[in-house]
Amino acid sequence: MEKEMHICRHCGGDGKMTCPRCGGDGRIQKETCYYCQGEGKVECRACDGTGWVED
Ligand SMILES: [Zn+2]
Ligand SMILES: [Zn+2]
Repeated sequence: MEKEMHICRHCGGDGKMTCPRCGGDGRIQKETCYYCQGEGKVECRACDGTGWVED
């Protein structure tokens, strides 16, 4: 059986998700968000940042 790959539904294939700490701002009270390093996005854990998941 071959495994099928599907676009990750958690990140929509982006491989990144909005940072749960800062809500995508990249900052928390004028400080750079430590969780996303100020990017506002973090690697999707469901697909390890690939945007794809195996069924
Ligand atoms: Zn953040
Ligand atoms: Zn994902």
